Amino acid sequence: MKRLLSEVYLHLIAGVIALGILGISAHTLWMDRLGTWQEAERSSHNMLTTITRDLENNIELLDLSLKGAIEGLRHRGFHKLSPDLQYRMLFDRAVSASFMGSLLLLDKNGDLIADAGPIIASRSLNVSDREYFKVHKENNHLGLHVSRPYRSKAPHGDLSIGISRRLSDPDGAFAGVAMGSIALSTINQRFQNLSLGPLGAINLFRSDGVLLTRYPYDESQIDQNLGGSPHVQRLLREKSGTFDSVSPIDGVHRIISFERLDRYPMVLTVALSVEEVFSAWERKALVLSLVTLVLCCAVVGLTFLFQRELKRRTRAETKLRRIARTDDLTGLPNRRAFRETFEREWRQAIRSGSTLSLLYIDADYFKSFNDRYGHGRGDEVLRAIAGTLDGSIRRPRDIAARYGGEEFAIILPETDLAGALMIADRIRQTISAMALVHEGSPYQCVTVSIGAASERAPRGGERNTLLEAADQALYLAKAAGRNCVRSPGESIRSHQAA
Ligand code: GH3
Ligand code: MG
Ligand code: MG
Repeated sequence: MKRLLSEVYLHLIAGVIALGILGISAHTLWMDRLGTWQEAERSSHNMLTTITRDLENNIELLDLSLKGAIEGLRHRGFHKLSPDLQYRMLFDRAVSASFMGSLLLLDKNGDLIADAGPIIASRSLNVSDREYFKVHKENNHLGLHVSRPYRSKAPHGDLSIGISRRLSDPDGAFAGVAMGSIALSTINQRFQNLSLGPLGAINLFRSDGVLLTRYPYDESQIDQNLGGSPHVQRLLREKSGTFDSVSPIDGVHRIISFERLDRYPMVLTVALSVEEVFSAWERKALVLSLVTLVLCCAVVGLTFLFQRELKRRTRAETKLRRIARTDDLTGLPNRRAFRETFEREWRQAIRSGSTLSLLYIDADYFKSFNDRYGHGRGDEVLRAIAGTLDGSIRRPRDIAARYGGEEFAIILPETDLAGALMIADRIRQTISAMALVHEGSPYQCVTVSIGAASERAPRGGERNTLLEAADQALYLAKAAGRNCVRSPGESIRSHQAA
């Protein structure tokens, strides 16, 4: 029971240690994961802020150029100026707009009035079929308009987006459009220097969900309207934020920071691939998990080794204890075991108020037996006596012990004197009936004398009284001629010869 309990404790401690190790590494990994996530959010947010400001500033410069050109066109003396001065009046401010691809002023039919751009040359051009032209023509309250990406009419024209404003007559009627174009490649250049990782992405949406441009650039994805995707709807609904989602464009799971431009109908997103963000963390997690696994296995393994050693020791101790309590000649419990058992039974007798009996058994004329037949034969006889004693006790708590030399003792718990005398006499008879020849004895065979004593143990009684009484009874038996049973104070009892 005690051993079982200590095994349970051992397993409990091992379990607690293993769980502790598991818990600590799981917690560490989890905190680290949160940290990695926050770091990715921070860095995508920082990149986003930088490019949003840059984009906004550049569009503003282009918008100022548009406004400048519109004002110039409205100027009263404009038409009287020389073409050179007219050009300056219209496009002076456009010089500082680094985003600008071209800047066109178009009349109400969509024909080119004037243009500024890399190639300053008058050319004939009609844009009445363009989306931005139609939008302004049909809607006179529209401020700045951002067009869908379109391919410029020049040969090998790049994809561009147009930023446009309406021209109005003094009476408010539609008079044409001022439009500045931005090549997508110009915008994309700004995205290239950011360290996004191979699966990172930047998207520029118009506020209705049309994808204006994207890094990494893939022309087939440009100009699709993603306004129906819940992912994009969220971008368009809120001013700014960060979330993670699977991209509707390429199916990559990303952490996405987004921000709507303050003054222009556009939304920018910077997205980092979750897989890339966590790749270093995953390696760490793998190593830590392996280490944790090894540690847990070590704890479990050590526990089993420890348990095996504990069992081995317990077995060895039990064996040693048994040896220390056993007499090697006869295999009976020895004097020490007799003492311990007697103590225990004495206390038990006090507790239960029962009678405890004790027999002292001594071989008769045994010195002379040894002298005559040799010590070896004497030992054989002692073993035979021991066998008889052991065979004549029945109850589980009865115990026969070798007290020393040719003396034995039997403890009989909950047995009164009459019962003890009966057993004693049976033993005496059995031994003499074995008829082990002993010519030095008046009985001609090996016999024993037995002293029997009983005590109903009073509370706090003296145990030595019982031991002494049995000893005294044995003395009486010897004095009465041996091969007989006596109890204390019973000096005259029929001599029972074999
Ligand atoms: P009594 O009838 O009065 O008991 O006489 P006894 O000779 O038996 O008594 P005593 O106490 O004088 O002698 C005991 C003898 O028992 C001494 C020894 O030779 C013998 N003896 C004691 N232990 C052993 C033993 O382990 N083996 C053998 N063979 N003999 C032993
Ligand atoms: Mg003796
Ligand atoms: Mg003797």
